[in-house]
Amino acid sequence: MRTTESQLPLERLLGKASAGAIEKNLGLGTVGELLLYFPRRYLNRGELTPINGLPFDEEVTLIARVVSVNSRRMRQRKGSITDVVVADDSASGAGSLKISFFNGWRAEKELRPGLRAMFSGKVGFFNRALTLTNPDYVLIDADGVDAELAKAPIPVYPATAKLPSWKIGNAVAALLDAVELDDFPDPVPQETSRREGFIGLPEAFRMIHRPADAGQWQQARERFRYQEALVLQTALARRRAQTAAQQAVSRPGLEHGLLAEFDAALPFTLTGGQQTVGRELAGELAAESPMHRLLQGEVGSGKTLVALRAMLQVIDSGGQAALLAPTEVLASQHYQSIRRTLGPLAEGGMLGGHESGTQVVLLTGTMPAAAKKEALLAAASGQAGIVIGTHALLSDQVQFFDLGLIVVDEQHRFGVEQRDALRAKAAHPPHLLVMTATPIPRTVAMTVFGDLETSVLRELPAGRAPISTFVVGLAENPAWFSRLWQRSREEIEAGHQVYVVCPRIGETEGAESSSGDEPDDSGPDTGAPDGGEDGRSMASVLEVVEQLRQEPALSGCRIEALHGRLDPAEKSRVMADFAAGSIQVLVSTTVVEVGVDVHNATLMVILDADRFGISQLHQLRGRVGRGGLPGTALLVTELEPGHPSRRRLDAVAATTDGFELSQEDLKLRREGDILGANQSGGRSTLRLLRVLEHESVIEMARADANRIIAADPELAAHPALREAIDASLNPEKEAFLERG
Ligand code: ADP
Ligand code: MG
Repeated sequence: MRTTESQLPLERLLGKASAGAIEKNLGLGTVGELLLYFPRRYLNRGELTPINGLPFDEEVTLIARVVSVNSRRMRQRKGSITDVVVADDSASGAGSLKISFFNGWRAEKELRPGLRAMFSGKVGFFNRALTLTNPDYVLIDADGVDAELAKAPIPVYPATAKLPSWKIGNAVAALLDAVELDDFPDPVPQETSRREGFIGLPEAFRMIHRPADAGQWQQARERFRYQEALVLQTALARRRAQTAAQQAVSRPGLEHGLLAEFDAALPFTLTGGQQTVGRELAGELAAESPMHRLLQGEVGSGKTLVALRAMLQVIDSGGQAALLAPTEVLASQHYQSIRRTLGPLAEGGMLGGHESGTQVVLLTGTMPAAAKKEALLAAASGQAGIVIGTHALLSDQVQFFDLGLIVVDEQHRFGVEQRDALRAKAAHPPHLLVMTATPIPRTVAMTVFGDLETSVLRELPAGRAPISTFVVGLAENPAWFSRLWQRSREEIEAGHQVYVVCPRIGETEGAESSSGDEPDDSGPDTGAPDGGEDGRSMASVLEVVEQLRQEPALSGCRIEALHGRLDPAEKSRVMADFAAGSIQVLVSTTVVEVGVDVHNATLMVILDADRFGISQLHQLRGRVGRGGLPGTALLVTELEPGHPSRRRLDAVAATTDGFELSQEDLKLRREGDILGANQSGGRSTLRLLRVLEHESVIEMARADANRIIAADPELAAHPALREAIDASLNPEKEAFLERG
């Protein structure tokens, strides 16, 4: 009877209405799921919530004191509006908020000046002030609250507009009373609990949901945090063990094969990192268990070259390699540059080609049918040693003769299912190499990419010129806007080219996200607290192109647009013309973020740069300064100095170390949830665990997980842990993990 209780449908204990509301709003269906839905934070009955820091457009729960209540008839319609002004403790009076209730008879009656109440609703904006409209509320100064209860923190659950925090709290409280918590299966092994002095699972549930004081929920959190880390790390350890147990085809290469010839003809020497990683890969490709490796390295650190050498080793061993890119632009760039790099080696079996060479083919969704057919044939027959494509490679039509190696570029854009779909095309488990240019802090890599071994390319190839980055603040100095184009002109006069990046495409917004095949064109992803909801307008590609064509400083220059809504042929044409130097100024969305490689481009102007996240900006600027020419990135913003979002720009300007920036990024992103941003939304995979803060917990859990899996790969002796893994890592969530 152990597990059944936690798997009991909520309806049995809460009744149809409550259970239905919880299922619909939070996606939780069982007793165990709801008990694991933890409060995001706790309010102290004695303290009012600072109103100034309330996040706009988020569901919030706050405690405030009623200052005034006024009702008036509506002029246009029947009914009345009750305006309730509430305040926090701040002396200045800045901390007040207007709450409007339509036909709020209950509010009018109950909310008396001086009373304190807890309100829950979505923060809106009206007449330049934050507002709540028709929030749910409960009075907390009600008579008869005893002294004990007055001390107890009030749990605040991640709520939705339809389901306020206290309704969730009431449902959880009902469960705690009804359920036999002692029978709950505990995923944390007893000896670990003893070793770490964790409280037991039943107390932990009580203390996290109904703490008597702050110490209790802190203790409970500590325990659940470890539990969360252990479940995740055990899942990853199991995945690694399963991979290691698979039988792969050994691809040791040849002493005098394509790879040897390629190396001999290489016009430069490999960096130290490329050599080390190259040896690592060569060894793993020769082994009989599949390689499963993540290759991290700054943009331009030479990852693709490392991958290409691995592909050649596989081809030398009779196998094929597939290179999966996230967009058509990137796929065709890879195709061009790999063919160029291989030279005659890429023309095996063709007139004038190399006798022992191979063929490289490109396969994308929008290719003309005839070309596609040819590419499909070359892949299926084994004629093509290297097949490059977008997720069109995943389609059932695509078959390989003997797929030995899969290289995935820019991992974070692919889910685990996509990776698996491609792996399923190989007769034997293929080797896998995942490349990412987004530097990932160690514990994040451990968590998000924990099923992969990691290699890092830290140095850039010699002769790479530095990139200087400047923040251009138009708020302090509007005249700098025209200076941008004079500066561009100077660059062009010197024979170079300019990128201008905008956060959106054009008038009809929202269409960006429907650009399907171009996931990297879906607009900014700032992770910023202000999230672009404050009504400021954003520079758009279509408008800026027109504006720059009129710009006197740029007269005579060819200025073109590139974005995800162009048709693919047009897109390739623009890219090709820019690469060939016949376009001087390329105005684009973030399609240039990844991989695009035009050595002659030396200046990048990023408009409304505050709309982009740190890692996005870092990736973007990596597009300039690639050809041994010093590059410059100008981060243009209209925000006042000192605005929180400008801090991101300052961070990017201050260093070019991607690892440092990614730490900074995660820290700044957290700002957003200090006061309940992210209170909304259903489940998130990591509830209590913060990958930066809880490094030691993650490390401990990882070591424990490795020990558990080594001794008991099937988790036969740990049924509760196994179930917890199954419950928390459904495919949807695994995909979430993959994307980081
Ligand atoms: P990444 O994939 O990490 O962005 P690439 O492999 O595309 O980097 O390399 C970027 C550029 O640097 C390419 O033009 C490549 O030919 C060149 N390159 C790679 N390795 C070296 C090296 N060791 N020395 C000089 N240039 C290199
Ligand atoms: Mg690359």
